[in-house]
Order: sequence, then C-alpha cells, then structure tokens
Amino acid sequence: MTDQPATIATPTTARMIIGGASVDAADGQTFEVTNPATGGVIATAPMGGREDVNRAVAAARKAFEDPKGWSSWSASKRGRTLAKLSSLVKANLEELARLESRNGGKPISGARGETLGVSLVFEYYAGAANKVFGQTIPVSKPGLDITLREPIGVVGLIVPWNFPLLMAAWKLGPALAAGNTCILKPASYTPLTALRLGELALEAGFPPGVLNVVTGPGGTAGASIAAHPEIGKVAFTGETTTGQEIMRLAAGNVKKISLELGGKSPNIVFADADLDKFARESPYAVFDNSGQDCCARSRIFVERSAHEQVVEAFVAATRNVKVGDPEDDATEMGSLVSFRQRDRVAEYIAIGQDEGAALVCGGDAPADPALAAGAYLMPTVFDAVTNEMRIAREEIFGPVVSIIPFDTEEEAIRLANATPYGLSGSVWSRDIGKALRTARALQAGVLSVNSNSSVHTEAPFGGYKMSGIGRELGMSAIDMYTETKNIFIDLS
Ligand code: NAD
Repeated sequence: MTDQPATIATPTTARMIIGGASVDAADGQTFEVTNPATGGVIATAPMGGREDVNRAVAAARKAFEDPKGWSSWSASKRGRTLAKLSSLVKANLEELARLESRNGGKPISGARGETLGVSLVFEYYAGAANKVFGQTIPVSKPGLDITLREPIGVVGLIVPWNFPLLMAAWKLGPALAAGNTCILKPASYTPLTALRLGELALEAGFPPGVLNVVTGPGGTAGASIAAHPEIGKVAFTGETTTGQEIMRLAAGNVKKISLELGGKSPNIVFADADLDKFARESPYAVFDNSGQDCCARSRIFVERSAHEQVVEAFVAATRNVKVGDPEDDATEMGSLVSFRQRDRVAEYIAIGQDEGAALVCGGDAPADPALAAGAYLMPTVFDAVTNEMRIAREEIFGPVVSIIPFDTEEEAIRLANATPYGLSGSVWSRDIGKALRTARALQAGVLSVNSNSSVHTEAPFGGYKMSGIGRELGMSAIDMYTETKNIFIDLS
C-alpha cells in the first residue's frame, strides 16, 4: 500500500462511461464536485439526465443481446474478468482510496479499508459466477423438471454517498457474475470513484456497454433509471423516502427491485456483559464514517444497574476518537459529506437539547482552527433519552448517539423494536441464552452478539420493515439478479 504514490491526479474534468466511451452529458451540462473537508472544488462531472440514461440503456441492451457477448460467455470467463477487476482495484487501491477520502471527507485509513473491501467483493463474485446452480425437481408427472437461472438483462444500480464505491461493488459483483449488463449511477456528492471504476472495468476486459456509469441528479438521471421500461431491475441504496419513490417509478414495467434503506439500529447492553469491551468498541459503531452509516448503532439501550458505568466508559472512549484531517493516517473521524448534511445533523443536536435530553459530550464543531473550513462535527452523546424523542426515532445520519436505560429484557426488546426501521443491531451479554433470545426477538436483518460487526462479504445483508427489500452480499445477492426458469420435459 505504501509503495504507491501518496498524491493522485484528481481529474479536473470527469466523464461518464457509456458503451465503453468516455463521454460528456448529451446537453454538455456539468456540476462541481467538492471536498467537504476543505470546501474546495476538486472536479467537474457531467450532469447526466434522461437522454444520457437512454444512451446507456441502448449500450447495455446491445451488450446484453450480443450473441457472442457478456451474457453468453461461460460463467467461468465472466468470473475471470471479475477477478481481473478485483486485482486492478487492489493495484490502484491508494489512488481510489485517496479519491474517495477527498470526495467524501472520510479518513484515508477507512477509505483504504473500504477499497480493499471492494476488491474482496469482486473476488467473492468472481468465484461465485460459475456456482449459480439450478435444480432438478421430482414433480408428479412422469418426466424431468429442471430450473435454469438466467440473467435479468439490463439492470440499474443507484448508490448513495456514504460508501460510494463499496455500495457500487455490492451491486455490481452479483449483477455481473450472473451475466447482466449494468448502468451504475453514483450520488452527486461522490461520483469520482465510480467513474474511475468504469475505466478499470474496461481495462479488465469487460466488453463495452457491460458497465456504464452515468452521473447526474437523482431527480432526473436516477428517476429515469428507476422508470425506464427497458431496465428489468433496479437496485437502490439510500434513504427510505427515496426508496419509496423508486418503488413508485419502477411500477410502470413491474421492475424487480431491491432496496437497502435507512436504519436506527439498537445497541443493547446488559449489565452482565463485558462492559469494557462494549465501551471500547462501540463509539466506532456509531462515529465511524461520521455516523453516516445505515448500520450505525445510534441508540444504546443500557440495563439500568450498569447505566452510570457504561455512560462514563463510553464517553471516555468517545473523547479518544481522533477527529481530524481525512488525509492524516491517524484520523479516525473526518468531516461529514457536505455542509448541508452537517447543518441537518446540527439541527438534530438542537432538537435533542430542546427535547430535554442530556448532552454529555460533543455537540459542536471541533475547536481546532485548522478544521474550520470543513463540514466537521464532534462525536455527540446524549444521555437520559426517551424513545419518544425525535433524536431516538429519526435517522440522523451523523455522529450522534442516544443512550436510553431499561429495566428488563422484555422492555429492551420492546423499545428496540419500536421503530419503523429494522436493519442491524447488537446485543451484549455473557448469558448466551439471554443474548440469543434477544437477538431472535429483534426485528432486524443483520445482528451481532458481543460485537458490532454487521457486514460480511459472504453473508446476507439487508433490512426488515422499512429498512429495505432483499439481501445483498453472499450467494443471496445472486437471487436478486437472476430469473428462475422452470422447464418440464415429457420423457414418455
Ligand atoms: P439518497 O436517497 O438521497 O440518494 C441515494 C441515491 O439515489 C443517489 O444516487 C441519488 O442521486 C439517488 N436518487 C435521489 N432521488 C432519486 C429519485 N427520485 N429517483 C432515483 N434516484 C434518486 O440517499 P443518500 O443521502 O445518498 O444516502 C444516505 C441514505 O442511505 C441513508 O438513509 C442511509 O441509511 C441509506 N443507506 C442504506 C444502506 C443499507 O444498506 N441499508 C447503506 C448505505 C446507506
């Protein structure tokens, strides 16, 4: 990692990738891409719209329908191409990580970890490509019944700004392994790594049109993808309200949809847990990526007898989280993604104070004048929160955590489930029976016991209730990018 150049040639003019070519928006419009840690402009990108989506769909359709093309390649050959992309991501890790860090304000150490994760996701789906099996089914009629798993066709992948390249990889890996052709639309705040990935895919040997990258606003470029009659599936990660809009837009051609949406995940700590481990590790479960994480453990439910001890230890550990320049290797928390997001989170901090919660740590911008130009906020802890307060109910998507005491196991479960979301969560206890009972009772898709780890490339990831539809990662993701065809053969 360290033998690669520390500086990168940030593109001053980025271009979309459509049909294997580097292109501007059809109408020539562009938008500025900034570094939220400094407020400076780092690039301009094409402001794609409906016409650009149409061009990308035409290119993806052509690539999909090519009788010698991508979807007709052997699954092993598709897998080898994904493996090449995985290697190229690793070979360009430092460049991609710096681009992601500058564009999103995230610490370079975290960006390196995410980029390595991208490479591992492609590696996993490289291996998965030739392991997508059908079945033989013992039906009642005399004959043979088999199923085939086939690609859907052109798929649209719309991703958010919090983990731009990683969210793209979660979708591209299974979509491409299964033989689909793709249109990827990154969020407008963070388009740069997706565009670079489009170039690397061409270098890896993906035929033109297999992976198209269209940049542009959600309301135009994104909505055109969600509504397009020739796109068979849309996969989306982002806010729940945007997901609802995508469902409406996708209804026109009864598109298949998968949605990874918001969260308000609980971290339940019983008095018999390893409280030191909980306090040491849990600040990172909510302040990593400046809290802009759908899995952020933004509600801590603590058994009342351990409340004081947990608050003290958690706050002490929070004060040790190193907030600073994202380019500094030692930084653990950078800026938020934008000034708008910073203001939104600051508003929630004011709401929490108005609601009567006790602000015990953070609440404002860092004191360091070197950080004054960036969209920073300190890690913020509210104690004495009740489940009725807005800070406990709404997804803040920033470095803010609410601590809520409870008396019984039943109460902890009831409070934790009292949310429209159901993405992730953790349970901490040395009593394995209690921990498992609680984990089973929680209405959420991704849980951990005595750990805050939610994401495993090999295991399914996704939400209950209003946190989404479908499961990404692992082999479950392949289901979301394939059609199942049943064929009965009369053998009489
Ligand atoms: P967002 O919903 O504002 O935008 C996500 C993407 O959708 C962007 O590319 C955007 O341009 C596009 N978009 C916006 N409006 C659209 C429309 N009408 N039609 C089609 N596309 C549209 O979300 P965000 O602010 O970028 O990301 C933050 C949200 O993402 C949070 O709510 C977070 O919880 C969620 N998230 C969820 C997961 C998960 O796996 N469940 C992971 C990461 C982020």
